[in-house]
Parts: sequence; structure tokens; C-alpha cells
Amino acid sequence: MKIKSIESFVLFDKLKESFYFSQWEYTERRICIVKITTDSGHVGWGEGYGPAGIIKAGIQHLAQFIIGMDSLETETIWNTMYRRTLDYARRGILVSAISAIDVALWDLKGKIMQQPVYMLLGGKKRDCVIPYATGLYFTKCNNLDEKLCDEAKAYVGMGFKAMKMKVGLGIERDIELVGKIRETIGNDINLMVDSNHAYNLREAIQLANGIEKYNIGWFEEPISPEFYDQYYELRLKTSIPIAGGECEYLRYGFQTLLSSKSVDIIQPDICSTGGITEAKRIATLATVYGVDLVPHSWGTGIALSAAAHFITNLDIVSGRMNSQICYMEYDRSENGLRDELTHNSIVFENGIIMLGDKPGLGFELNEDALYKYTLKE
Ligand code: CA
Repeated sequence: MKIKSIESFVLFDKLKESFYFSQWEYTERRICIVKITTDSGHVGWGEGYGPAGIIKAGIQHLAQFIIGMDSLETETIWNTMYRRTLDYARRGILVSAISAIDVALWDLKGKIMQQPVYMLLGGKKRDCVIPYATGLYFTKCNNLDEKLCDEAKAYVGMGFKAMKMKVGLGIERDIELVGKIRETIGNDINLMVDSNHAYNLREAIQLANGIEKYNIGWFEEPISPEFYDQYYELRLKTSIPIAGGECEYLRYGFQTLLSSKSVDIIQPDICSTGGITEAKRIATLATVYGVDLVPHSWGTGIALSAAAHFITNLDIVSGRMNSQICYMEYDRSENGLRDELTHNSIVFENGIIMLGDKPGLGFELNEDALYKYTLKE
């Protein structure tokens, strides 16, 4: 079961309609995925989150150190990649490259062992995960309010029990839009907001206080991820749970976030924070601090499947007879790569996602879509 080859692909799709959030506009999707093949002919797929071309270069750099290693030794391989890059890339895109390879190795291990990844992680702790719709981005139009309300209504119609909207257009405008969405979806749907670190502490407090009356599930990335102490101060000044961590890398980054008491919910992205191997360690760390974990996920069916398997196995310390909801981020913004690259990765029905018992991450890769979307060099 030795690693024989590591191939990476940059997938590209031009959006039909561009959309934006508090920082910039998206006009395209560009995602790096990786295929690992063993000498036994088994294949595993992984994905990195972040600038695709740089992740591809990172994967090519890492490949030389791990070709020929036993693919089942996921921790040994992880440690090799980490030690080979530690001196010049303790955080950042090279960790995304490590993540992509690690996710592919878990998929591979599942296929070799004929077990779903959640079983290899220690078992199925829940029968389903509850996806929340990530959408409600801004678009350039003169009827944004109406458009967002229609989109929110559509999510309710699809059966979603929770959704997350973007904020970051300015405090008064945000409060107005959050009010309109809450009115549209009613009180039974959980509504979260995400400013993508648009605000300073004073503004974040003002916005949080302005939307508390709308019963907000969490306020994500209110402030720049650099200001751990300010996150803590914000937590003391609002009843809305504070979420963050999609920009953190490795258990060391999360240790800083957790020990600063910065957030109520950590949001590691499996495809950038160090893969499934490291996400499992981060989950353990979260239990030490008694903080909830809801992974950030924003990619193809590979990333979504990795998140779904991880959440299926996720350990939660607090417990009760009516078991606690475990959310999964389920991006609904336009993404042809996500919709076409994988078959049977995620089955969404009646507001829940059930995972089958197929080996590995459980999807089949659509080779036609891979060919169609791969950026030709
Ligand atoms: Ca976010």
C-alpha cells in the first residue's frame, strides 16, 4: 500500500453571476484537489482550501518527501510533512497543502480498509448532521433586500433548519437586513451572521447589540482574527455566541484562540487547518476547553464529505437525552465544481444529511467533470 503517485489539479469555473461579501467580489471558483494512488491501485482524493495555484505548488513540494511511504500511516506521513515545512511555514498555505494530502490519505485508508472514514475515526456518534445553508451573499443589483429574502425563503422551502447570512455593509444597513431576513423565515429557523472580520471592536459591539433581538445563532468573525483579546471583550458585551477560527492553522493556532477565551464556537477548516488528522486533535482540544466546534467548509464534494464524516464522529462533552444538534456548513452559493465533481457525496433530505456506509469519504469522482474543470497549463 505504498504511495506511488501524487497528482494535483487546479479546477476553475467562471461564475454566471458574481457575488460578494464584506471584503471582495467573487467572479470565479478556483480549487486545488489532489489524487493519491498506491502501488496496490487504490486511489484517494483530497482538497485544499485557499489559493489553488499555491496549494498545488505546495503539494508538489511535499510529494518528494512522502512518495514510497505506507499510505496507511497517516500520522507518520503527517509528521513528515509538518517537520519538512515547519521552519518556514508554521502557518498558512503550505498547511493547506498538507491538509489536502491528509484528506486524500484518509479517503484512501477507508477504501483500503473497506470502512467509512467516520468508522476509522472512532465511530458514528450520531446518525445525521444538520446542514445550515451558507448563502445570502451580496450581489450588485437594485433590489438586494428582496433578492435576499427570496433566497432565504427558498432555503426554508428546501427544508433547511438553519442558515447563515453575510453582514458587513455598515451597521445600520446590516441591522435592517438581518431584521428583514428574520421576519421572512420566522422564528423556528436558526439564523447566523458572518461579517468576515469587517468591524472593529466598538462597531462589532454595536452591531451585536442591534441584532440581539433577532435571536441570532452566532456572530461569526466579527473582528479581525488577529485580535484575540477583543474577541473576548466582545463576548462579555453580547448574549450572541461568538464564532471564529476559519483562518487558524493547526492545534497551536486553536490553542491561542481557546486559551484567550475568544470564541464560543471554533470553526476549523479541515482542508486548511491540517487535514482530518489535525482536525481530530483540534476537536480534542475543544473538549478540554468545553467549546463547541462547527467546521468551516466551502469547497467541492470532497471537502463537504470530509466535514460530514468528521462531524459524524465529533465528540461533544456536554450531553443530554435529546442529543445535541451538530451543524455542518453547507455552502449554497454558485459552485459548478461542487455540484459536478463528485457523485453521491452528500445526500440532503428533509433538512438533514445522512451518511451511508460506503468506504472512504463515500463519493465517486466524476472524471468528466475533472477533465472539464481542470485548468490546462
Ligand atoms: Ca465565514
